[in-house]
Amino acid sequence: MAAPCATGLEVLLSTLKDSENIESTLNILNVLDELLSAGTDRRIHYMISKGGTEALLMALVSAAKAPSPNYSMLVPLMHLLAKVGRRDRKIGQKAEKMEAVLLAVDLLRQNVKHTRRAAACLWLLQVFCSSISTATLLGKNRALDIVFRLISPYTTKHTRMVKAAIDTLAALLQSHANSRCAAAKGYVSGLLRLLEDWHRKDLGNAFVAIRKALLHCLLHATNTSAARAALNAEGGMNLLFHSTQSCLASKGLESLMEPTIQLMRKCYPKCPVPLRSGHSAYMFPLPGRPVASCDMTSEPQDRSSDEDDSDDTRNDEQDCRDYDDDLETDLNKLRVNPEPDRPADELRQYAALCPELHCDFQDLDSGSEEEESSDEEVLLGSSLSHEGRNHEDDTARAYVHEQKKSTFKSAPREVIDQEGANLPDHLRARDLHSHYLNNSRAKKDTHEMVDRLLERHGVHIPHHDPHTYSSAAARTKSVVGYSVLAFPDFWGHLPPCSQEPMAERKPNVQRERVFEDILRYLHPEDLINKVVFDLEDPSSQVNTEHSGSLRFFSKFESGNLRKAVHVRSHEYDLILNADANCSQHHQWFYFEVNGMKANVAYRFNVINCEKANSQFNYGMQPVLYSVREALEGRPHWVRAGNNVCYYRNHFCPVQGQKGLSSAYYTLTFTVTFQHNDDVCYLAYHYPYSYSALQTHLQQLRKSVNTRKVFFRQQNLCNTIVGNPCPLVTITACPPSQSWKDLQQLRNRPYVVLTARVHPGESNASWVMKGSLEFLCSEDPAAHTLRESYIFKIIPMLNPDGVINGMHRCSLNGEDLNRQWMKPDPSLSPTVYHAKGLLYYLRTTGRTPLVFCDYHGHSRKKNVFLYGCSVKETLWQSGSAVDTTTLKEDPGYRTISKTLDRIAPAFAFNSCNYLVEKSREATARVVVWRIGVLRSYTMESTYNGCDQGIYKGLQIGTRELEEMGMKFCLSLLSLRRTTMFCSRKLINQPCTLYDLDDNLQDHKSHTSFEDDEPPCIEEIEYLNDCCPDYSGNTLDQEVNSNTFSSEDEEEENDKARRSLQHCERKSCLIPCFMHQASLETLSVKRSSCHSSDITNDYLS
Ligand SMILES: [Zn+2]
Repeated sequence: MAAPCATGLEVLLSTLKDSENIESTLNILNVLDELLSAGTDRRIHYMISKGGTEALLMALVSAAKAPSPNYSMLVPLMHLLAKVGRRDRKIGQKAEKMEAVLLAVDLLRQNVKHTRRAAACLWLLQVFCSSISTATLLGKNRALDIVFRLISPYTTKHTRMVKAAIDTLAALLQSHANSRCAAAKGYVSGLLRLLEDWHRKDLGNAFVAIRKALLHCLLHATNTSAARAALNAEGGMNLLFHSTQSCLASKGLESLMEPTIQLMRKCYPKCPVPLRSGHSAYMFPLPGRPVASCDMTSEPQDRSSDEDDSDDTRNDEQDCRDYDDDLETDLNKLRVNPEPDRPADELRQYAALCPELHCDFQDLDSGSEEEESSDEEVLLGSSLSHEGRNHEDDTARAYVHEQKKSTFKSAPREVIDQEGANLPDHLRARDLHSHYLNNSRAKKDTHEMVDRLLERHGVHIPHHDPHTYSSAAARTKSVVGYSVLAFPDFWGHLPPCSQEPMAERKPNVQRERVFEDILRYLHPEDLINKVVFDLEDPSSQVNTEHSGSLRFFSKFESGNLRKAVHVRSHEYDLILNADANCSQHHQWFYFEVNGMKANVAYRFNVINCEKANSQFNYGMQPVLYSVREALEGRPHWVRAGNNVCYYRNHFCPVQGQKGLSSAYYTLTFTVTFQHNDDVCYLAYHYPYSYSALQTHLQQLRKSVNTRKVFFRQQNLCNTIVGNPCPLVTITACPPSQSWKDLQQLRNRPYVVLTARVHPGESNASWVMKGSLEFLCSEDPAAHTLRESYIFKIIPMLNPDGVINGMHRCSLNGEDLNRQWMKPDPSLSPTVYHAKGLLYYLRTTGRTPLVFCDYHGHSRKKNVFLYGCSVKETLWQSGSAVDTTTLKEDPGYRTISKTLDRIAPAFAFNSCNYLVEKSREATARVVVWRIGVLRSYTMESTYNGCDQGIYKGLQIGTRELEEMGMKFCLSLLSLRRTTMFCSRKLINQPCTLYDLDDNLQDHKSHTSFEDDEPPCIEEIEYLNDCCPDYSGNTLDQEVNSNTFSSEDEEEENDKARRSLQHCERKSCLIPCFMHQASLETLSVKRSSCHSSDITNDYLS
C-alpha cells in the first residue's frame, strides 16, 4: 500500500497494482483517464514521475497472464498505456524490464482476428518502439512479420487497425537492424506495391491518412542502403515520381507531397562528383614540407563502414549541452597572459613597423611633398632584410620564381611591366575585343585602347584606377600564375543606385528543382552531360567554342570554379575548387561566363557545397557583373538570380564514402541575362581581390592631405607565396615639430584593425575599405579620430587565400584564424608577425585600446560583434566561481552600444561576449589575453538585415563601407577625456556621410532568433519529415477505438469517420460500468468531475 503521506494519485496507482478485482481496476482506469484527459500533458508527466507507467505495465502483465485474459479490462488498459507511454521516453526500457514487450507481441498474435484488440496491442507496441533497442528486440521476435501481415494485401476493411499496423511498422523500422531485415524479406517492395494499390484505388481520396502512413513507413524503412537499393530495384523512384505528378493535380493530396519527395531524395542513388580527385586543383609546396604531406587527412576517406546502417543513438539535448560545454570555465585561461611567446629581443624588429614613434616630421614646416613613392619600398626593403621576418623558406621562394618564369616564358606577350603599361593580351581578347570592340583596332596598343574606353565609357570610381589595378595585379603572385584579369576587378565597381530587397522565395521552388533533379535519374538519356570547363584540362574549353554551350572561366585572381558541366539545354552543374592544399571548404565562387543568349533562363547548380544550411534559403542572391553594362556606364555588381534555393543533393565527395554521411548540398539559381553574347561574372559575394586592395591603398595614399594625415603603408611580412602583407598606419600629423606635439602623438592610444583572415569573407574587405577611406577623409570626425588614436591596420591577413580563390584556409590547408595561439613563423607568417607587433606594443607600454578583426557571417543577418567577458562567460556556463570578487571593466560593451545607435546594419542583440574553448586560438581571444580589453570579431552578414532601416534589404558594398565608417566613429565614444567633444562629433552631420541621429527610431530593440527559423522546405532529407505525425493522432485513434464494439465489421465510411478528428478526449471506458462500482469511487470522481480539477489533487 501507499505510504501514509501519499497523494491521491499515488493511492490510485498503488491500488491499481494490487487490484485483483476487475471492476475496481476498470474504475481506476477510468478515473485516471478522466484525470489525464482534462488537463495538459503536465499531468501525464507528473503521473509518469510517480511511477504511473510502471503501475500500468504491472497491471497489464498480471492481467495478460491470467488463464483467460479479460479483454474488457485489457483493452482499456492498453489504451491508457499507449496514451501515457507516448509521453514517457523511457517506456521501452520500462516495458523490457517488466517483461511486457514480448507479452504484447503475444497478445497481438493471439488477437489478429479481433481488430479492436489488435489495434490496442499495435498502439502499445508503437510506443514501446520509442526506444530503438526495444524496436530491435521486437524485430528479433517476429513482430515485423506479424505486423506486416496485418497490412498486406490491400484491403479497405478494418482500416483503423490497418492504419495502426502501418504506424507500428514505421516505428519498428526506426531500428536499422529491422530496416535491413525488412529489406531482406522483401517488405520494402511489398510496401511499395501497397502504396501503389492505395494510390490507384483510393479514387475519392478517402484514405489519405493511410497513404501518408505508408510513406512515413517507407521513409523509415529506407534508413539503410540495402533498403534503398531494394526500393530502386523495384522501380520505386518511377512509381513515386508519377504519384507526385498525379498528386499535384489534386489539392487534397498536398500532404502526401512532402513525404514522397523526401523519400525520393533519400533513395536517389549517391553519385560522386565528376572529378578525378577531391583534392584542390591548386597544390603548393609548403616551406619545410614535401608536397605529399599537404593536408590529406581532412578527407573522410576511410569511412568504409556503412555509417547510416548502424543504430543511431538519440541525443536530443546534445546540441545545447555542447554549447555550454564549450564555454571556458578555467580561470587561468580567462586571465590576461601578456607573456610573449618568443624571446624579448625578437620583438625589437617591430620598432620598424612603428614609424610614427620615430619620425621627426622634418618636412612638416617646409611644406614639401613627401617622397611617397619611395616610402613603401624603403620600408619594405628594410623590413625584409630584418631578421625574423625573412624566414620564408627558400624552396617556396624558388618555386614561385620558377612558376613565374615558366608562366611568362610560355606567354611572353602577357608580361606586364612594373609601370603597368601593358595589359595582358588575354584581357583584350577575351573581354574587350571580342565582346565589345569587334574590329581591327584590337591590334592597337592596349594601353591606348583602355584609355579610350575609359574616356568613352568609364565612370569615376573613387579610389580606383584600372591602370593602377593592372600594374598591381602584375606584381601579385599566385599558385598557378594568373595571366588574366577579371574585368570587374580591373574596371571597378560602383554600388547600384537603388536598394536591393531580399529575394522572395516562391512557394515550392525547391520541390520543382528536385523534380528536375529526379528526372536526371529517371531519364538519363535526356542529358547532355558535357564538360564545358575544367580548370585542369584547358582543352575542354576549346571544344566548346562553337557548340552553343555557355563558356566558363575562372583562372584569375580570387576566381573559383573548377569544372562546369552542361547538363540540359539551359542547365549547368558547377563544381567548386577546394581550398588549395586541401579537399574541403567549397563555398566561395567567382567565375566568368559568356556566350549567352539574352532573355533565356539558365539554371546553374553549384553541386558541391558543404554547409548544412545557407542564407540562400532566406532571401540571399548571388552577385552578377555585366561587362556590357559596365561599358555602358553601369559598372555594378548587382544581386541576381531567381529560384534561389539550397538543399542536400545526391552527390558525394570523390574519395568519400557513398553513404549518406558525407553529403553535398546544391545551391541552385536561374539567371536571365540582359544581353546576347555579354561577358558576365557571377560570385558568392562582392569580390575584393588582393590587387584591388593594393590599388586602393595606392590611391588612398595619393589622396590624403600629407600635412594633416600621417599615412604609411609598410610590409608586415611576406606570405608563403611571397606577396607582401600590407600594414597601414594612420594618425594625425602633429601640428608642429615641437617636443610637446610629438609627445602628444606618441602618447595616443593604439587601435588595431585586421580583416580577411578568411578569404571567402569578401564583405570584411568592403567594411575595411569603408574604415580606411573614412580615416583618411577630411571629415571633422575623422580628424578627431586621427588626433585621438594611432591606427594600425592589416587589411588582409590572408592574401594568398584571397588571391587563389580560397574560402576558409591559408595555404597550409588550415584555418588561419585558429593559429593565433602558436603561430608558425614560416607557415602562418602574417599571424605570427601581427601577434609580434601586438606584443611589441604591449612590452613598450602601448597595449592597444581596441582590437577588431573583421569577418563575414554566412548564417546570420545584420552586423554584430563578438567580444570577451570573464563574468558573462562564467555566468553563462553556470560556473561555481564567485564572480563578485572578479573585477571587470564593463567598457567592453561601449562600442556595441554606440554602434547600435549609429549604425543601421548593426544589431546589438546578436552580440555576445562569451569565451569559448573552441575559439581559444582565434585573434579575438588571443589578443584579449595579451591584454587588450576591447578585443572583437566583427561579423557582417552576406545577406542583409532583418531590423532597422535596412530591414528586408540585401546588403551592398555601400552599406558594408558605411559599417566600416561607423565602426571608426564609434571609437569616439571611448574618448573619456574629451567626451563632450566626441558626443558632439558623433551627433553632428558629417560632411561625407549622413549620420542621421534619428536612425535609432527605426531600430528594433526586440530580441530575435539567433539562427533562422526552419526552412519551409526541408534542406535535409534524413530528418523525420513528419515528427509528430503518429504522436498527436494516436490519442484520437485510441479514443475512437474505444467506441467500436468488439470485432465489428466496419463499413468504409465508418472507417473514414474514425480516422478523422475525434473531439472527445476522454472516452476510454464506455458506459457499461456497474453503478455499484461507480459508487465505490464516488468521492474521488466528484472531485475529478468538477471543473476545478487542479494540480493540487495531483500533488
Ligand atoms: Zn570569418
